[in-house]
Amino acid sequence: MTDTGKDTTVAIVGGGVAGLALANFLLRKGIGCIVLEKHSRAYVEQRQRAGALDAGGVRLLNEWGVGEVVEGGYSHGDSDAPMPLLMDGAKRQWRTGGDDEDDIDGTFCPQQVLVRNLIRIFLRDGGDLRFGARNVTLHDVDSGQPVVRYQDADGTAHAVACDFVAGADGYHGVSRTAVPEDVLTCSTHEFGYAWLSAMTEAPADPLAVLAVHSRGFAAQITRGPNASRLYLQCPLTDTVDVWSDERIWDELEARFGEPVEPKGPITSKQVVPLRGVVFSPMSHGRLYLLGDAAHLISPMSAQGMSLALHDADALARAVIRQAEENDPALLDSYSDTCLNHTWERQASAVWMTQTMHDSGDARYEGEFRKQIARKNLETMLEPPTAPHPAA
Ligand SMILES: Cc1cc2nc3c(=O)[nH]c(=O)nc-3n(C[C@H](O)[C@H](O)[C@H](O)COP(=O)(O)OP(=O)(O)OC[C@H]3O[C@@H](n4cnc5c(N)ncnc54)[C@H](O)[C@@H]3O)c2cc1C
Repeated sequence: MTDTGKDTTVAIVGGGVAGLALANFLLRKGIGCIVLEKHSRAYVEQRQRAGALDAGGVRLLNEWGVGEVVEGGYSHGDSDAPMPLLMDGAKRQWRTGGDDEDDIDGTFCPQQVLVRNLIRIFLRDGGDLRFGARNVTLHDVDSGQPVVRYQDADGTAHAVACDFVAGADGYHGVSRTAVPEDVLTCSTHEFGYAWLSAMTEAPADPLAVLAVHSRGFAAQITRGPNASRLYLQCPLTDTVDVWSDERIWDELEARFGEPVEPKGPITSKQVVPLRGVVFSPMSHGRLYLLGDAAHLISPMSAQGMSLALHDADALARAVIRQAEENDPALLDSYSDTCLNHTWERQASAVWMTQTMHDSGDARYEGEFRKQIARKNLETMLEPPTAPHPAA
């Protein structure tokens, strides 16, 4: 059976951070929306990806009255242990202080915890979230009434007629393909190296340790009280097959310049090329792209979730303005607003990624870039403490 007629104000394709945040923001203002998520609830609630949300993302969630969704994360301020940078094995401290310091902490909140909480409060408050929506297709996005078609888990066809479509289905989603090829541009920067990224059932203590070393960048970042993610810079040509569990721990210790304890079983591994991608424009007709569907940012910056939340906030405000005041101004400027913000974040992400990687293994970018990167890195660090005089 196929449904017809206008069903909702916003059809949201994708139930990740971007789509679920938008859905919750709209629900709070009484704007109708339907979320179509390809996977099952169980799958999306355990899918492990990001782990850090910056202060801007936390503030935005608080402003929408959904700050509870980062429960289960730990604030940077909750840890007594300082989070060091290990530079060639020597412990250095990040520079702190300053008048413009944020009064809100970022949080280490595993992405699956944030997603689980966004789902829980959306359903608790009466939201319409349809898991297992297969073969989603977008139609008539440049008309007055777009339609999103999909099949449910039983293979039954449905059509959701709406005022607006939010394409929040990630980098590999289908929404972006509804923008004509001659309209959409893609700007990409490849950094020229990758991360071997591995999940382990061992806590990180302190919560985040980053290391710059002539063998390459390395990090261990918390993913909860009993888990952490390990990162090792590696060539783009590496595959997970060349990274045995033993080699991962050995290499982490070599780059940290100290033993890493406790160790735990490694539960998953992947090789992630570091790149930045921006698609433009971020809207076409009544389709609005959000989050990874519109851009990828270097994971070094830990800004992916925050960017997704920014887009959700901008689109929610725009739809509300249209609904309450019949004023399309924010919808019209959505793409420019979000692209401007995205490029700002890309600029700082590129700087941070190059600084942290170029200052380590000179085989990638050479000795000149290494020395420049080291000088840039020093601007973010407290001066080294003088060694104690020999007794
Ligand atoms: C190794 C790594 C580390 C990272 N670390 C961080 C970090 O520390 N901090 C940070 O902020 N970011 C980090 N990120 C980035 C972050 O994970 C993403 O930016 C974030 O997930 C974007 O959210 P999203 O909702 O836009 O996309 P997604 O999370 O990809 O959500 C898209 C959703 O759409 C669904 N979907 C896809 N196709 C369809 C379809 N055809 N129909 C219906 N539904 C569909 C998917 O199942 C998914 O649920 C990291 C990324 C990687 C790879």
